[in-house]
Amino acid sequence: MARILITSGPTRQYLDPVRYLTNASSGRMGRALAEAALDDGHEVVVVSGPVQVDYPPRAEVISVVTTDDMLVACQRLFPQCDGLIGAAAPCDYQPRRVETQKIAKTGDPLVLHLMETPDVVATMGANRLPHQWLVGFALETEDQRFRALAKLERKSCDLMVLNGPDAMDSAENSVELIGPKGNVIQSIQGSKEHVARGILDMIRRTLVR
Ligand code: C5P
Repeated sequence: MARILITSGPTRQYLDPVRYLTNASSGRMGRALAEAALDDGHEVVVVSGPVQVDYPPRAEVISVVTTDDMLVACQRLFPQCDGLIGAAAPCDYQPRRVETQKIAKTGDPLVLHLMETPDVVATMGANRLPHQWLVGFALETEDQRFRALAKLERKSCDLMVLNGPDAMDSAENSVELIGPKGNVIQSIQGSKEHVARGILDMIRRTLVR
């Protein structure tokens, strides 16, 4: 039995009080992972951006808005957890300046200056305790396995779940589990619930002590 932190859903980065940058993540993969982990007898904490899905009542759910909020929540919660599954799709860019009033149209193009947001999984990976494990997700459109392995290394993960853009906001998923040597350990296709079951089976077999 483990205490597992799951990041889920998108985050938002506001440009002004009404407009924001985000992505099409639904939180369905995170919800399916939370259900599968609870079914296996694990304790589950979900840190989620704004989503429509309902997480299982037995999971502790922390709601966040921005990528920074997600990082702060994970920094607080991960030290008490055994493992992290990074299923969220945090917004990677934030505007250099957030306007306090709604940006008015002028008839001219609007130029945005964007900075990168912090990487939640990479930050947790860089500060992991010896007994802790990390599973990341990689959504790639080209050089998929190579890029997934590069992310596994950069983010200090034990396992990378490689999927394609079709996974976004879909009920189904098709993934490859990539190990630390870039090896494809397993391919899983089907509903996100079925894929989550397969990921949790692999976690139980190879990562939970
Ligand atoms: O770099 P990329 O976004 O493709 O990496 C995907 C993995 O990194 C996922 O596990 C995702 O949850 C995590 N991630 C993160 N913080 C970010 C960007 C990605 O935790 N700012």
